[in-house]
Amino acid sequence: MTKNDQKIRFLRERIPSFACKEGCHDCCGPVTASSVEVARLPIKSDAEHEQALAELNCPYLGEKGCEVYEQRPLICRLFGTTKNLSCPNGCAPEQMTDRKIEQQIHDFHRETRQVLL
Ligand code: SF4
Ligand code: SF4
Repeated sequence: MTKNDQKIRFLRERIPSFACKEGCHDCCGPVTASSVEVARLPIKSDAEHEQALAELNCPYLGEKGCEVYEQRPLICRLFGTTKNLSCPNGCAPEQMTDRKIEQQIHDFHRETRQVLL
């Protein structure tokens, strides 16, 4: 396991989970994530990327929600768990992500190459 893999695992484990509004995917859209995380996802064609972007969607958003839920990037996990990325539908975990962890996630994003999903 690489240093980045260890870091991703460490950070993932520290983001609290919570229940979303049923069937909601409002926060899924064109997002960037570290190339390390994107490399874990199945490859989408240029046409799929272009279509998703034209619709301001994420190419991994399928009819039943996120197709890569288990491997979704940190930024997707962080959404709704901090004041800076609060859910527009008022959903949140009982305890928000620790601010130090949030900072470490942003630091990780700064340290790694970011690519559009
Ligand atoms: S965090 Fe909020 S906006 Fe995003 S999917 Fe969940 S309920 Fe919807
Ligand atoms: S990877 Fe999944 S959770 Fe993240 S924006 Fe795309 S569809 Fe939404």
